[in-house]
Amino acid sequence: MKKISIFGATGSIGQNTIDLISRDPDAYDVVALTGSSNIAQLAADARRLNADVAVTADESRLDDLRDALKGAQVEAAAGQGALIDAACRPADWVMSAIVGAAGLQPGICALEQGATLALANKESLVCAGALILDTAARHNARLLPVDSEHSAVFQALVGEDLKAVERIVITASGGAFRDWPMDKLANATLAEASNHPNWNMGQRITIDSASMFNKALEVIETREYFGVSPDQIEVLVHPESMIHALVGFHDGALMAHVGPPDMRHAIGYALHWPQRRNLPVERLDLAAIGALTFRAPDEQRWPALRLAREVMARRGLAGAVFNAAKETALSGFIDGHLRFTQMAEVVDAVLNQIDPSHIDAPMTLDTVMVADHIARQTAQTIIEQTAG
Ligand code: NAD
Ligand code: MG
Repeated sequence: MKKISIFGATGSIGQNTIDLISRDPDAYDVVALTGSSNIAQLAADARRLNADVAVTADESRLDDLRDALKGAQVEAAAGQGALIDAACRPADWVMSAIVGAAGLQPGICALEQGATLALANKESLVCAGALILDTAARHNARLLPVDSEHSAVFQALVGEDLKAVERIVITASGGAFRDWPMDKLANATLAEASNHPNWNMGQRITIDSASMFNKALEVIETREYFGVSPDQIEVLVHPESMIHALVGFHDGALMAHVGPPDMRHAIGYALHWPQRRNLPVERLDLAAIGALTFRAPDEQRWPALRLAREVMARRGLAGAVFNAAKETALSGFIDGHLRFTQMAEVVDAVLNQIDPSHIDAPMTLDTVMVADHIARQTAQTIIEQTAG
C-alpha cells in the first residue's frame, strides 16, 4: 500500500486527488489530510479514508474538528505547528495543494522525509525554487509537477535530452476577461473575475487566471523546474484549453500535450508515475472539436506577464517578493479595497519599493519568509494609500 498525505485536501486539487484515490481505496494508506475552514469536508474525508490524522490550519477550529471526528479513529490537530508535524510524518507520496506561500514549509518537510512530492503549489517554486530543488536532491526525494502545463512539459520530455530543448510554450486560456474591452477591466467585479471559462478551480487561482498572474507564476515555475532560461519560455493564448503546453526541440519539432481541461489527468499522472494508468477523464473527439485557436498574449492587457520577466531577470528572492505582493493584492481585490487593474500596479510598486537587500539575501527558508513578510507589509501599505 502506498502511504499518502494530502496537504490542502479540502480544496479543488485536494478533492480531485481524493476522487482518484477513492476509486482504489485498497491501494492507499492515508497518513494526513489537511485543510483550514471547511471542517465538515475535512472530517468526512478523514473518516471515510481512515486517515491517521486530520489537521486544520486554523487554530481556533480544533474543537470543531474534534467534534466532527467524534467516534472515528482519526487524530485531530490544529495550527501551523500541527501542520508541520503532519508534514513530517513519513509518507511515500504527498500532494502539495495548499494555496499560496503557506504551502512552502509543509512541502519542504515532506521532501526532507524523502517523500515524492506532487507539486500543485506552484508558489513554492516561485518563492524558493532553488531551495526546493536542493532539498529534494539532498534527501533523494522526487518532485513531480501537477500544474497542468508543467505536467504536460514533463510528459513531452520523457525520453528526451533537456539539452535538445529550444523552447517551452505554455498555454493560457486567457481567463475571464480575454475578450473584454480594455477600458472595462478597471471595473471588473469579483463575481466576474471568479468565473473561469474552462477550468473549475479554487477562487484565488481563478482570479489569477483572469489577471494572468497565474501564468506569470507558471512562467517562473517553468524556469525553476526545468532549468531553462527565461528567453526559452513563451506564453501562448489558447482559448480552448486543450493543448496544455508544447516543447520545441532543436530539430524544429514541437511536441504538444493535448487533453481535456481536467486536473485529474495531471494529478493521476503524478500519482501513478512512472506508469500510466486508466484515468476517469474525457477522451477528446478532435473531429467534433474541429478547430483549436491560438493568439499572442497582450502585455498591455496582462501586465503580470511583463512583471514575471522582471522577476526572472532580478533573480534572488524576487520571486518570493512577487508572490507575496501578488497574494496581498489579490486579497485586496477580493476584500473590495482594490480595483482589478490595481493588483498589477501594487505588485509593480512593491518590486520597486522594497529594500533590495531582501531580494539579494542568500536563499534560506528564513530569508524567504522574511522577504515574504516585508513584501506583504509593503503591499498592504500601498493598498491602504491607494484605497485611502
Ligand atoms: P483551493 O482554494 O480550492 O484550496 C486550497 C486548500 O488550501 C484548501 O484545502 C484550504 O483549506 C488550504 N489552505 C488555504 N489557506 C491555507 C493556509 N494558510 N494554511 C494551510 N492551508 C490552507 O485551491 P486550489 O485551486 O485547489 O489550488 C491549490 C494549489 O494548486 C494552488 O497553489 C494552485 O495554484 C494550484 N493549482 C490549482 C489548480 C486547480 O485546478 N485548482 C491547477 C493548477 C495548480
Ligand atoms: Mg496551470
